[in-house]
Amino acid sequence: MLELISDKRIRPIAEKVLAGERLTFEDGLALYDSADLPSIGAMANHVREKLHGNKTYYNINLHINPTNTCFMSCRFCAFGRKAFDEKSYILKPEEIVDRARRQMPKGCTEIHLVGGLDPRLKIEYYCGYISALKEAFPEIHIKTLTPVEVVYIARMSRMTVSDVIDRLAEAGMGSMPGGGAEIFDPEVREQICEHKCDSEGWFETHRELHRRGFKSNCTMLIGHIEEPRHRIDHLVRLRTHQDEWGGFQCFIPLSFHPANTKFSHLPPPSGFLELQTIAISRLMLDNIPHIKAYWIMLGIKQAQVGQWFGANDIDGTVVHEEIYHDAGAATPQGMTVETLQRLVRECGREPVLRNTIYEEIGGPVA
Ligand code: SF4
Repeated sequence: MLELISDKRIRPIAEKVLAGERLTFEDGLALYDSADLPSIGAMANHVREKLHGNKTYYNINLHINPTNTCFMSCRFCAFGRKAFDEKSYILKPEEIVDRARRQMPKGCTEIHLVGGLDPRLKIEYYCGYISALKEAFPEIHIKTLTPVEVVYIARMSRMTVSDVIDRLAEAGMGSMPGGGAEIFDPEVREQICEHKCDSEGWFETHRELHRRGFKSNCTMLIGHIEEPRHRIDHLVRLRTHQDEWGGFQCFIPLSFHPANTKFSHLPPPSGFLELQTIAISRLMLDNIPHIKAYWIMLGIKQAQVGQWFGANDIDGTVVHEEIYHDAGAATPQGMTVETLQRLVRECGREPVLRNTIYEEIGGPVA
């Protein structure tokens, strides 16, 4: 691999990667400063194949957004609606169960639920839909609520984050997704989402989860106003948390979609930046096992290419995605198992069906 690296400045980093050494903040910046994407991709692919061989994981899941009502005004968001907006909604627990019953794909193992922040919704609402889903579908894993939602519920319900997590766990929550991380740097956060929980609240929630043995994921929103130093700072903070607590299963770089947001004047992130970020994430996050090229956010073509730039997961059937489609995502809202498998095979990888906690669960469900 070393002899193929055209940008000589990153050759010492490749040597560290081959030796299995941890990369520094400065290494991360040097990688973002290099246009030698094929070499960075080859380094990330080396790590990816060492960890996962030729496997690309996918799952059979269903997304439901319990509410799109949100009292925040994040500038990158096209999903949240004010309570007076005629398109705002709050699904009752029985409506969530009904939707799950109607939309659940064959072989589904996970329902993923995230939504807006509404002060009228207290802890009882969230426990209500979790327990209703668990009663209707006892075998299904409920992955729900970002730390941003948990911190808000704690505030609105006059509880601690720790107590909120205990109540959610009692109701049947199985794990948490990694949203709401955006970019941790306070100066960037101030400009993109100043009202929602800061990095302390985000990490506190994951700490409380991981302390109890729950798994979760983590994300980073790229391609808006952030700079490479903010991305590397973000990755290093995740890596530091993981060193101490473990518990992150998967990192998911999320591409900013400008349509219908307050940042609609910004261009969307380039394909170059997306691949660079997938690869650099794989290289920096040496203690997080999985990197996802999320087909909904990246588009199907880029998610396929991402499987050769460090990613080893493509996400799942999803069925009904609202958050990024409100921001102009051009991907379908869901995918069949057969299509997912075909897309993974087409890019030379072996599709492997997993559940939420990355247990392999057998062959194709056709
Ligand atoms: S990103 Fe989340 S918290 Fe921010 S406005 Fe959108 S729904 Fe609300």
